Amino acid sequence: MSGDLQKEFGDYTKNLNRASKDTNIETAISRAVKAYRATVSDAMERYPHTPDLAAEVRQIKTDSIANNDALLQQAMESVERNKGKAFYARDKQQALEIVAEIIGKEKIVVKGKSMLGEELHLREYLEEKGNEVWESDLGEFILQLKHDRPMHILSPAIHVPREQVAEIFSKFFGREVPPDIAQEVAIVKDFLRDKYFKAHVGISSANVVAADTGAMVIIENEGNIRLSTAAPPVHIVVVGIEKIVPTFQESMKVAEVTWRYAQYGVPSYVSMISGPSKTGDIEKVTTYGAHGPREFYVVFVDNGRTTMAQDELFSQALHCLRCGGCMYECPVFQVTAGNFGHTYLGGIGSVWTAFVAGGLEKAAPLLYTCLRCGRCVERCPMQIDVPAMVGELRNRIVNGEEKEIGLDSQAS
Ligand code: SF4
Repeated sequence: MSGDLQKEFGDYTKNLNRASKDTNIETAISRAVKAYRATVSDAMERYPHTPDLAAEVRQIKTDSIANNDALLQQAMESVERNKGKAFYARDKQQALEIVAEIIGKEKIVVKGKSMLGEELHLREYLEEKGNEVWESDLGEFILQLKHDRPMHILSPAIHVPREQVAEIFSKFFGREVPPDIAQEVAIVKDFLRDKYFKAHVGISSANVVAADTGAMVIIENEGNIRLSTAAPPVHIVVVGIEKIVPTFQESMKVAEVTWRYAQYGVPSYVSMISGPSKTGDIEKVTTYGAHGPREFYVVFVDNGRTTMAQDELFSQALHCLRCGGCMYECPVFQVTAGNFGHTYLGGIGSVWTAFVAGGLEKAAPLLYTCLRCGRCVERCPMQIDVPAMVGELRNRIVNGEEKEIGLDSQAS
């Protein structure tokens, strides 16, 4: 075992033990798991067609990943046709540089929740470049103030109970905030409302991208995406290339399965954004920059996804919809929450870490935490065989194949 790997395991084990004794985590996770199970089974009862739709989406994702190069090309052409600007970023550094170049310095930026943003450390990079960046998702905002990272791909602050949120907000806002969820939500709403309308740039990701139309489909409940993609004069979408499917109709199927397994009967908002805001109301002359952004950019990020797509076993990891269902079923996650220096969490997160977020050594502690019990596969709408992938990655560690995958060997 290399020195780096030993250190990675040592730090991770300490954190894991500490987390398993943390009563804040225990309280918050047990509340969240209970709520998840109740709402998802209710949603499945009300919308019994969902498993059949999930089977259809599995095929859509398999075909899309197999045809990703052509779909990327088509999606980029569609964005440009819609008067947006499309970029392809081969790796993390290129993605960061493209976004920073568009934004410049000393700007106010409002940003939606995005696991890709976490993968790139996008907020931190833009702050280093001299910008003021605000997370607009409530959970991400809590973590920004707490200097913490997400513990769940869908509910980033799942490990922070209301009592701790009250402490964090009281300190930041300089006044006593009670541990009352409605009041905690209200104080952030007031604070961010001001930022949306002062912001120069809004950044979002997308849950699905339709290549034929260049439509970015974004699912949310809070309304922060609506505000941060409509109020500032510039909107930048930063999205992984694995999110592209051929048609708008297919993107809607993927979206429905995503939100259903993410425990929503139906989300409060689904945005379909395909270009800058425009109007033709005066003499039918199309003019860009009406009420919404005048400039629209899409950065398609690879950062190891092509390498994953080319591997028969691991390409299925790209089918992940980021619904988060597997984590609620994971027996390890239920005791410890998830993030101990890793962006992607749980069994599926160990695979993503190996390919796009640090490499095989970084992923090793996660790979050996996984029990390979298969409960995640039963919950997963894409039936991703996480135990098989974890087993193969462990083999590669044992056989000293750290350099075979990960950042060192990304496709160009
Ligand atoms: S692995 Fe499956 S259950 Fe887990 S987040 Fe991805 S799609 Fe959802």
